[in-house]
Amino acid sequence: MTTFLGMPVTAPRGVGHLRGDQTFPRAARDALQNSQLRRNLRHATTTIRGKSGRVIAELPDWQSLRDAGSGIKADVMSRLPELLVRLEERVVAAGGVVHWAADANEANAIVTELVKATGSERVIKVKSMATQEIGLNEALEAAGITPVETDLAELIVQLGDDKPSHILVPAIHRNRSEIREIFLRAMPGVDPALTDDPPVLAAAARRYLRETFLSTRVAVSGANFAIAETGTLGVVESEGNGRMCLTLPDTLITVMGIEKVLPTWRDLEVFLQLLPRASTGERMNPYTTMWTGVTPGDGPQNFHLVLLDNGRSAVLADTVGRSALHCIRCSACLNVCPVYERTGGHSYGSVYPGPIGAVLSPQLTGVADNASLPFASSLCGACFDACPVKIDIPSLLVHLRDKAPHPVAERAAMAAAARIMDRPRWYASAQRAAKMARIAGRRGRGLPPPLSGWTAGRDLPEFPQQTFRDWWAQRPAVPPAGEPSSGSEEGR
Ligand code: SF4
Repeated sequence: MTTFLGMPVTAPRGVGHLRGDQTFPRAARDALQNSQLRRNLRHATTTIRGKSGRVIAELPDWQSLRDAGSGIKADVMSRLPELLVRLEERVVAAGGVVHWAADANEANAIVTELVKATGSERVIKVKSMATQEIGLNEALEAAGITPVETDLAELIVQLGDDKPSHILVPAIHRNRSEIREIFLRAMPGVDPALTDDPPVLAAAARRYLRETFLSTRVAVSGANFAIAETGTLGVVESEGNGRMCLTLPDTLITVMGIEKVLPTWRDLEVFLQLLPRASTGERMNPYTTMWTGVTPGDGPQNFHLVLLDNGRSAVLADTVGRSALHCIRCSACLNVCPVYERTGGHSYGSVYPGPIGAVLSPQLTGVADNASLPFASSLCGACFDACPVKIDIPSLLVHLRDKAPHPVAERAAMAAAARIMDRPRWYASAQRAAKMARIAGRRGRGLPPPLSGWTAGRDLPEFPQQTFRDWWAQRPAVPPAGEPSSGSEEGR
């Protein structure tokens, strides 16, 4: 007997953080007014780019590693169901419990019930894009459970009642004096004499978090990788807060997007070389924590793995678009993107900003719900060059632009253009009419309504004084082959 599961569906509305309140152009226009934001972004992205470029240059086989990473991910996508079932079998065999969540609502309900069952009213959290995507913190708070972010940047965002604006450095839009103000305002027990010296700020966060680590019995994490052959989960991080969350509590709940699975341990070798160099510009992650089910007397004694779909099966169904699922969330594409560097992450309206957000969010939600994002790019190609798993983001952007709903006027104009270009006489007449457009919409002013939308984001090119057809008709007659021309031999 077979079970019909239905068509893959996109992430539901009204929950999580994949959709913004405004279109990208409107949000970006506001962000561009903030010169402090642009200074912070330029400084941070330039620093990370430089560091990353230096350590990547040390590896003579970097391009081969990129090819290997890309190949492994393509293989995973081609047999994802089989690998997930194997992962489930191994996790269960090692003493864990696996839950399948079709969307954000299901995942939030599963985690909330699991935490409630422990009797704990607080959870500590390892930085996790998947839990931000589904709005887990809001769901926990609604159930009377306090989530505490333990990654320093996530903590800054949480205490500041803010939103993350970068995958790896969620508080990249804040400078140290802004962080000092947030700590003074919202961090319990903070020293009123706090300065904005980075080590002093880090020490304040450490003091606040240490007590929380030692007194909280439940942790929630994401996962960078899961190894199907053994049921092993992995988190890589730089601060050690993840290690505390993954080892100290009695109960560990991991929420992982289904695309994070890898077939074997051997595959992990490739990604542990690619990820740190492309993301933080480190040769190796300071903390790499791997765990397999539960081990009596060592670490959490209850382990739950929540496998999250939330639109991923719909992405997988698009044989072109699915390569967005290869992403390992290194954020290298953000750090090289000229659009991201000027607008910042909030303009994208989703927890996934920058070039990867522009191709992933519209696919998870359905293109209609994030229709402006595939256009948030100059198509310069820097993201493709930087991506450690060789995701061809520019091609994906073009693919999604084609799928985005286009205004009626634009569709009508394109259909009319196609008909005209198919008929030489009509085309000649249209060229003559275009000269009128030079008068109606001079360069720098754009076209008049209803065509003004087309030139709102583009320069209107200057039409030439003479068309090619006119020039061709007026050119001097060419003598028949074999007859000498009147021109000089020189210069031939
Ligand atoms: S698309 Fe590539 S460069 Fe961008 S975050 Fe994902 S893996 Fe990194």
